[in-house]
Amino acid sequence: MASYAERVLKQVKKANPNEPEFHQAVTEVLDSLKLVVDNDSRYERAGLLERLVEPERVLMFRVPWVDDKGKVRINKGYRVQFNSAIGPYKGGLRFHPSVNLSVMKFLGFEQIFKNSLTGLAIGGAKGGSNFDPKGKSDGEVMRFCQSFMTEMFRHIGVDTDIPAGDIGVGSREIGYLMGQYKRIRNEYVGVLTGKGLSYGGSLVRKEATGYGLVYLSEEALNARGDSLKGKTVAVSGSGNVAIYTCEKARQLGAKVLTVSDSDGWIYDPNGINIEVLKQVKEVERGRLTSYAERVKDCEYHPRGEGKVWDVDCKIAFPCATQNELDEASAAKLVADGVLLVKNGVKYVAEGANMPTTVKATEHFLHNSVIFLPGKAANAGGVATSVLEMSQTDTRLFWSFEKVDRKLQAIVKHIFVSIDEASSRYGMPGNYVVGSNIAGFEKVADAMMAEGVV
Ligand code: NDP
Repeated sequence: MASYAERVLKQVKKANPNEPEFHQAVTEVLDSLKLVVDNDSRYERAGLLERLVEPERVLMFRVPWVDDKGKVRINKGYRVQFNSAIGPYKGGLRFHPSVNLSVMKFLGFEQIFKNSLTGLAIGGAKGGSNFDPKGKSDGEVMRFCQSFMTEMFRHIGVDTDIPAGDIGVGSREIGYLMGQYKRIRNEYVGVLTGKGLSYGGSLVRKEATGYGLVYLSEEALNARGDSLKGKTVAVSGSGNVAIYTCEKARQLGAKVLTVSDSDGWIYDPNGINIEVLKQVKEVERGRLTSYAERVKDCEYHPRGEGKVWDVDCKIAFPCATQNELDEASAAKLVADGVLLVKNGVKYVAEGANMPTTVKATEHFLHNSVIFLPGKAANAGGVATSVLEMSQTDTRLFWSFEKVDRKLQAIVKHIFVSIDEASSRYGMPGNYVVGSNIAGFEKVADAMMAEGVV
């Protein structure tokens, strides 16, 4: 007979057809959790997995807005409030044409375990829209954000649900969303994170996801008597996570050779010039072709002409989007010995959420690659969001060093938890299993304690 975890997975696929990303995320988590739940009948008696895979609430709404030509436009809005067992819902908003219910549910589900891993009291959620901010004027983005918040405001709150940014939602969008919330509610509260520094934001929040990714990677390397110093690194993406991954990796002595966007990628043998990258992406909201025009000796490859994973490097940080690193790329990295670091350690850490396909992950694990999954590796962002919430609530403003120290302490805690859980379940160094189990344990305890709700 199929095990408890297998039966629940089958039911998830049947009850949620046409949601491949959600199936993928649940499959990966339940595959680890069977080590815990299949040997303890309390979980099945409590219907724990059945409750865990069903969002507490899914909100879908119309977002009407008017473009610069006066044309009425309609987008879909979502907020998936997945699990509040350990605290108020928390998770980003994504504005990208690829957003649909499956993507929202996969991200919300992942967020439950990620938030738990931080050791902080926050539940899991995700939201967003199929709106594409790219190519829109500031006025159009503002009108869209105001319309989005005009529906979402009634479902969120400082003790209920605190959204943040994600793909396509940066400081500009958070500013417009915050302005509209304040206007509707007539109260100034920290209901969003990723706010600008002049109105309740936190130092280090912008950098936190990329920095956290590199800090966790350094922990994993240090545990093996190694470090980032002198290593060559491939990064994908060139947004918030990618930029600050490049910055921290360079600060720790590594050389970042690549970045990408949806039109193409850069190979820079001298190391990515972060100042130029920030100017192109953060200031001008431009394309990487502008980077190539300004930086001597780099190569620009349009989409379809190879991949960042083809470059000779020691460490890979996928930081763009889901399923961007497939089995063929994984096989290439491993077979070429590209990932071989000193002492035979091989090493990949996910900045994005689920950027590695199931088969690619299996390939890495099979080949003894040290693989840090997104729910642990990119948790520095949401952790620093909680530090931002503390500051907004107390009307205090902490120094960069203070927030950075707290972020580093949280990342250390994450590494110890996932490392310990992987050993406790007989798979030392398997951080997929370690992250899923360590993230699950606290949520499961809380769900048991709170009864059937
Ligand atoms: P940004 O919007 O700032 O940047 C996203 C980057 O990825 C851009 O370079 C973008 O290129 C590229 N990209 C996005 N979608 C695609 C696609 N379908 N194909 C190819 N390239 C793509 O987002 P973030 O940096 O904030 O987020 C990146 C990843 O990190 C996401 O998976 C997100 O969920 C995850 N994450 C983010 C956190 C944060 O704090 N921001 C926290 C934890 C996880 P282009 O500009 O051409 O679209």
